[in-house]
Amino acid sequence: MDPALGPPDAMAEKRDELTPMMRQYHDLCARYDEAIVLFQVGDFYETFCGAAERSARLLEIALTSREDSTGEYPMAGIPIDNAESYIEELLEAGYRVAVADQVEEPGETSGVVERAVTRIVTPGTLTEDELLASDDNNFVAAIARGRGTDTRPAADELALALLDVSTGDFLATSSASDEAIADEVSRFGPAEAVVGPDAPADVLPEECMVTPFDDRVFARDRAGETVSSYFGDPDALLASDAEIRACGALLAYAEYARGGEHEGERGDGTERDDAVNSPVAAGKNEGNRLEYLTHLTRYDPREYLLLDAVALRSLELFEPRAVRGREDATLVGVLDETACALGGRKLRDWLRRPLLEPRRIEARHDAVEELTGSVQTREHCHELLRDVYDLERLIGRISRERANARDLRSLRDTLAVVPDLRDQLADADCDRLTALRDELDPLADVRDLIDDAIVADPPIEITEGGIVAEGYDADLDDLRGTARDGKQWIDDLEARERERTGIDSLKVGYNSVHGYYIEVTNPNLDAVPENYQRRQTLKNSERFVTPELKEREDEIVGAEERADEREYELFCDVRRTVADEVKRVQRLADALATLDALVSLATAAAQYDYCRPEILDREAADGGLEIDIEGGRHPVVERTQESFVPNGARLSPERRLAVITGPNMSGKSTYMRQVAQIVLLAQVGSFVPARAARLTPVDRIFTRVGASDDIAGGRSTFMVEMDELATILRDADERSLVLLDEVGRGTSTADGLAIAQAITEHLHDEVGATTLFATHHHPLTELADDLPAAFTLHFAVDQTDGEVVFHHEIEPGAATGSYGVEVATAAGVPEAVVDRSRELVDQPASSSPSDAQQQDQYADGGELPADVAAELRALDVGHLTPVDALTELDRLQRLLEE
Ligand code: ADP
Ligand code: MG
Repeated sequence: MDPALGPPDAMAEKRDELTPMMRQYHDLCARYDEAIVLFQVGDFYETFCGAAERSARLLEIALTSREDSTGEYPMAGIPIDNAESYIEELLEAGYRVAVADQVEEPGETSGVVERAVTRIVTPGTLTEDELLASDDNNFVAAIARGRGTDTRPAADELALALLDVSTGDFLATSSASDEAIADEVSRFGPAEAVVGPDAPADVLPEECMVTPFDDRVFARDRAGETVSSYFGDPDALLASDAEIRACGALLAYAEYARGGEHEGERGDGTERDDAVNSPVAAGKNEGNRLEYLTHLTRYDPREYLLLDAVALRSLELFEPRAVRGREDATLVGVLDETACALGGRKLRDWLRRPLLEPRRIEARHDAVEELTGSVQTREHCHELLRDVYDLERLIGRISRERANARDLRSLRDTLAVVPDLRDQLADADCDRLTALRDELDPLADVRDLIDDAIVADPPIEITEGGIVAEGYDADLDDLRGTARDGKQWIDDLEARERERTGIDSLKVGYNSVHGYYIEVTNPNLDAVPENYQRRQTLKNSERFVTPELKEREDEIVGAEERADEREYELFCDVRRTVADEVKRVQRLADALATLDALVSLATAAAQYDYCRPEILDREAADGGLEIDIEGGRHPVVERTQESFVPNGARLSPERRLAVITGPNMSGKSTYMRQVAQIVLLAQVGSFVPARAARLTPVDRIFTRVGASDDIAGGRSTFMVEMDELATILRDADERSLVLLDEVGRGTSTADGLAIAQAITEHLHDEVGATTLFATHHHPLTELADDLPAAFTLHFAVDQTDGEVVFHHEIEPGAATGSYGVEVATAAGVPEAVVDRSRELVDQPASSSPSDAQQQDQYADGGELPADVAAELRALDVGHLTPVDALTELDRLQRLLEE
C-alpha cells in the first residue's frame, strides 16, 4: 500500500490517544483511503506522515512537523488560496484528492472544529475550470457485465457508461463483444473508470485510472433505483441489465465524488452503518444529487463509424502520429476553427463518432454548404460565437451552487448574443440551419431576471454584498437607504462640529477597530464639548465619539450587515431560479455548439478548398463500398508542407483490393491514410480535401501498420501484428475499409510473404472488405493479377544524375523492382556494397539482406533436409490461415533445428 494513502501507521497504533484533531485526520484517512486527504487547518490544507512526505517531494513544499503529547508527525501544507494548482500536480502524479474542509466556524464550537470531505477530486470527475481542457470533454467511465434476470435473457453483455461531470454529457452503450467495448473506450478516452465486480478491467487503456468503488452500487436493483431517480424507468431507457448497472454505479460514483459524505454539514446526524470502505451508504446521497444531469443518451456502437484504437491513432484524429510531430498536425488541428469551447467539444465529438446514415450526413453537408457560400454569415456567426461562454459548465456550476455572480453575468452576456445569431440565420434555407435557428432560445426571462437582479460588474465574493442591483428588492433598497442616510449624516458631521466647536482642524474619520471617531488635535482639546467621549489617545491628538455618532454607526453597520445577508439570499434565489432552467440552457448550449461546429467546418472547407462529397445510398454498391475520389489530398500532410500532389482513388465491389508498391518515401502510407481520412471526414459531415468525391458510408475502418513501422509504439513483436490481423480477418466485412501498411515485415521475408499472401487471399475471397495494402512484397502484385477484384497501384520514382526524384503520383500497375538499392546509391552508400545488394536482389526468391546468408546456404536446396523441403513444397500456401501459417512455420523451423 502506498504510504501516502490510508491512515498513517504512526497514528493507527494509538488512535484512541490522539488529540481530537489528529483523530479526525486519522479517521478521514481511513474512510477515504483511496485518496490523499487535504485537511484544513486555518488557511492551509495540511497532510501528515506518509502523505506529507510524498506531497513535500511532489509539490516542492516544506516538510515540517507537528508535535503533541502523543508524538511528532511529519507535516506539509499548501495554502488554500492556491490549492488548485497543487491539486492538479497531485492528480498528475496519479493520486486522487479528498478535500476535508472545516465545516463550522472555529468560534462556534467549544471542542475541535468539525471537518468533512466536501469534494473528492479525481482525474475523471473534475469540475474546476482551472483543471479542465476547455475544448474537450473529460469522461469518467463505468463498465459492468450483465447478468440476466428472470425477465431478461442472461445475455453476457459488457456495458460502458460515460459521464462528463463538468458538462452533464452522459452516454451508455453495450455489446456482446469485449473488444467492441474496448474500441468505444478508446474513442472517448476516459480519464478514470470504476469497474463492476465481474467486469474485465483490461478493456481500459493503461492511461485510464481505475478507481476501486463499492461493488454494491453495481447491483441490478440498486443501480436501477439510482438511474430511475434521475431519468425515470431504466428499462425504458437502457437496453440491458449491464447498461443499468454501469449507469447506476457511475451516478453513485459521481455523487460520491461530488461531495464526499458531509452529513456533518447537512447536520442530519444519521449514524452510518458502514463507516469505512464503503463510500456510499444506500440512498443517502440526496444532498449530492447532480441536478444538471438531465439526459442519458443510449447508443449502439453500430450507429457510428467504428474506429478502433489503432485506427484513431494512425488516422491522426486527435494526436500527431510522429513522436516529434507538430501539435496541430492532426485532423482536429486542421478542422478546428471553432469560436467557443462548446463548439470545440462538439467538433471533437463529431470526429470521434462519424455518422453512417446518409440522411444525417447530408443534413450536415447541406448546412456546411450553405455556410461556405456566405462569407458574411459565417464570419458574423464566428464573431458572435466568440462571446459565448462555456454554458454547459456554467449551468453545471450554477446547479451545483458553485457559481458566483460573475458566472450569472457571463450567462447573461451569452444570452445577449443569441438574438443576433438568430438574425444571422434569418434567411437560412436548409433544414439543419432553420432548425438550429428555432433551437436558439434567447431565454429572455432568464436574461431579464439576471439583468434586473445582478449588477453589471459584480465582485467574485458572494457574501460581501455589492451584487444585487438597485431597485430589485424593496427591503434591500431600504437597508441600503438607511446605511446611505447614516453615512451622509456622518459626512456632514465634520462641518457641523467644526462650526459648533470652532475647531477648524476637527476631523471625522473611521478605522476598522474603533469605528467612527472625531479627532481633535492636542492644542484644541480645551474646546471639546461635553458630550464627547474619549476613545483613543494618539501622540498629537485625541479621538472621541458621541452617543449620537455611536448610534448612527450601529445603525449603519446593522443595516449593512443585514443588506449583505439579504443580498446573499437574493443571489441564491436568483441562482436557484436560473438552475431550474437547466434543460433550456442545455438545449441552447447544444444549439450554439452545433452552429459553431458547422461554421468551423465551413470555414475550413472554404479556407482549404474542400469539396462537398456525394454520399451514396447504402444499397448503391450492392452492399459493398464505392469510393470514388478525384484529386484527393491528405488533409494533415498538405498543411505541413509546401506543395502536395493530389491523387485519386477508385474502389468498388469489382475493384476492392489494391496492392500498392513503390520505394520508401514515395507516398504509400500517405495515400492510404488520405483515402481513409477523406471517407471519415465525409461521414463526420465535413467537406473533403479533393476535387470531387462519391462515397458509400463505411461501417468500420481498420488500419494496421507493420511492426517495423511502429517502433515508436514499442510493439515490435510479430505476434502482436498477427494478433491484430486476426481481429481484422474475423471482424471485417464488405462494408469495412481496411488499410494494411507493410504488414508481415516483422519476420523473415519468406514467412512474411507467405502470410501477406494468405491474408490478401482471405480478405479477397472471404471477407470482401475494401482493402488498401501497401507492401514491399512484390510477388503480391502477381497475386493481385490472379484475383478478380484485386488490382495494383504503384508510386514511381525517377533517377536523374544519381538523384532520386519522388513524384508522389499514384499510377496503375506494379512498381518495377525495389528502389531501395537506388536510394542507397543516391545516399552515398559505397559502390561495392551497392553492387553486392544488386546481386542479392537479382537472386530468384526476393529477400532482404539480413536473410542473405540463409539464402545462400539453402540456395539450391542442397543443405535443406529432404523431409523439410518436401513438406514445404507440399504446403498449400494459398489456403493457409495466418495462424496455420505460423504454426506450420514454427514446426518446420523445429524440424530444421533437429
Ligand atoms: P511511404 O509510405 O511510401 O514510405 P510516405 O507516405 O510515408 O511514403 O511519404 C513520405 C513523405 O513524402 C511524406 O512524409 C510526405 O512528406 C511526402 N509525400 C507523400 N505523399 C505526398 C504527396 N502526394 N504530395 C507531396 N508529398 C507527399
Ligand atoms: Mg510507409
